[in-house]
Amino acid sequence: MLSMDIKPETPWDGTPDISARIVVAITRVSSVLRAGMWEFATAQNLNPAQADILQLLRGRTHGVRLSWLATQLSVSPASASDSVTALVSKGLVRKDRAEDDRRASALWLTEQGRALAERQAGALGFADDAAAALDRQVQENLLVGLFKLIGELQKSERFPALRACLSCRYFEANAFPGSPAPHHCALVKAPLPIAFLRIDCAEQEPADPVTERRNWAAFA
Ligand code: SF4
Repeated sequence: MLSMDIKPETPWDGTPDISARIVVAITRVSSVLRAGMWEFATAQNLNPAQADILQLLRGRTHGVRLSWLATQLSVSPASASDSVTALVSKGLVRKDRAEDDRRASALWLTEQGRALAERQAGALGFADDAAAALDRQVQENLLVGLFKLIGELQKSERFPALRACLSCRYFEANAFPGSPAPHHCALVKAPLPIAFLRIDCAEQEPADPVTERRNWAAFA
């Protein structure tokens, strides 16, 4: 007979926590996506850092600073600079004076770079197809779950800034509480359903840090 404080063994006792399995699942998905991206990049004679820079510059009409790129890539400014120099010499990136500070320089994709970045993004079409094949409600739940996970990761300050709605100065959290479209975009001047929250919006402008933290907290 078992004593009261000894739990019976079950076949599932050795199963890792759900949190651990979430991390493993994301890691595996990320590896597959990286492999798909690098396969394309290698065929184009780009190294992984150069391929990542093309994607970071993609869809940005305002030039970005080298320091921002380095933060996004989690590398030193010197290392980011080497990759940018290679991309400039390939005619894929151009360096010019920053629009908001003429003494500083900023980086843009050239036409050739833009075309290559678009084709590169298309290399992940297989993953987009897989996500699109999920039931619509599952897609929404997954999106919300990923936003919440990113919000938690941001508390550890390991997550680089995103051009996401929740970090945007135009985002008005819970402007219509309880409604199917509870949030509001002050740029578009329209209610914003959760399913339409963006993770990388070209029009995004950073909110002040206090508002940003409040938005992510309200969403969680
Ligand atoms: S849609 Fe774009 S501009 Fe509007 S709140 Fe989201 S990130 Fe900001």
